[in-house]
Amino acid sequence: MSDFIPYGKQTITEKDINNINEVLKSEFLTQGPKVPEFEKAICKKVDANYGVASNSATSCLHLACLALGLRKGDYLWTSPITFAASANCSQYCGANVDFVDIDKETGLIDIDDLQNKLEIAKKEDKLPKVLIPVHLAGSSCDMEEIGFLSKKYGFKIIEDASHALGGKYKDFPVGSCKFSSITVFSFHPVKIITTGEGGIATTNDKELAQKMVDLRSHGIIKQDERFLFESEGDWYYEQQMLGFNYRLTDIAAALGISQISRLEKIVTERNALYINYKRLLSDLPVKLLKIPNNVYSSIHLAVIKINSDNKEMHKYIFKKLRENQIGVQLHYYPVHLHPYYRNLGFKKGDFPKSEIYKDKAMSLPLFPGLRYQQQEKVVDILTNSIRDFDEI
Ligand SMILES: *Cc1c(COP(=O)(O)O)cnc(C)c1O
Repeated sequence: MSDFIPYGKQTITEKDINNINEVLKSEFLTQGPKVPEFEKAICKKVDANYGVASNSATSCLHLACLALGLRKGDYLWTSPITFAASANCSQYCGANVDFVDIDKETGLIDIDDLQNKLEIAKKEDKLPKVLIPVHLAGSSCDMEEIGFLSKKYGFKIIEDASHALGGKYKDFPVGSCKFSSITVFSFHPVKIITTGEGGIATTNDKELAQKMVDLRSHGIIKQDERFLFESEGDWYYEQQMLGFNYRLTDIAAALGISQISRLEKIVTERNALYINYKRLLSDLPVKLLKIPNNVYSSIHLAVIKINSDNKEMHKYIFKKLRENQIGVQLHYYPVHLHPYYRNLGFKKGDFPKSEIYKDKAMSLPLFPGLRYQQQEKVVDILTNSIRDFDEI
């Protein structure tokens, strides 16, 4: 057994395995009764009216953009400090993408920058149709402020809450869409709960939910009352628009149902691990990402930032931790600096706070089941590598 400690990983219980086994012995493997049961369970947890599960959060982001009518000529804005999927969904719809820089303490979209950029865009007649705020590391963005701006400037909001299942903004569970049209969660194995691959879009808007349901399965309609032409027999169905196969399997949904029952326990444990880190790191020249007031974070990631402008120090510490079997990771390399996005015209210097962030940030291991001694080991190795760098 290697002693490698990853930055995140899934936990699978006997109950999870039993739930999956039951589906394997049942009649339905893909999208049977377990998918709607899972959708209902998520809606109940996050206090939303509708949930549309799919085979990934990436698919859900695509469905959400299409449901909101994003298309060629439109703009979608998001944060540069996110997984590429938050921006890629614009490209699937043939739309333009742009970014809003982050607040350097929280890593979340900077509300002042957003406001300024909107004011400029308004003058240039280039206001976005969709904004995707990203709840980095599990902390909700300031949704009330963003909601206010969305009304003032007339854009729609899709929350990328891939990290934030079980988190809260003020008294509202993330996913309740109090200030947004749609919220998207991921069930990739490193996320808060998993279905292997999978995602869900929650909304309180019946029409948006229906559009996403239709597009999830080829744009095929099977209910008589929705047919555009007369039914030609019991076998009849209609493809009314161009959709996809983004369905979740019943096998995956069964795992999700079992996992979601432990949500509070998982998020409580993640918060306890975070508090341990906070204490263990208190004497080091590093700082955990700030969690905004009024936010209960799901603590998807324990992101620290090095108190130094020396890029070499960041690189050195990263390398030393990895050499010592600590699976630190950078969340994230700014999306606009990936070659694909540079090809669209983005360049170094476009979003300076995000670019500084990348030279300071790293995610320490944090997942349910991580032991206190392992956290101490991570911090010991971090302490030594900082000291070793200072002596070079
Ligand atoms: C993981 C992640 C996604 C994509 O999730 P998938 O389920 O893997 O498609 C999108 N956005 C963010 C911020 C993520 O962390």
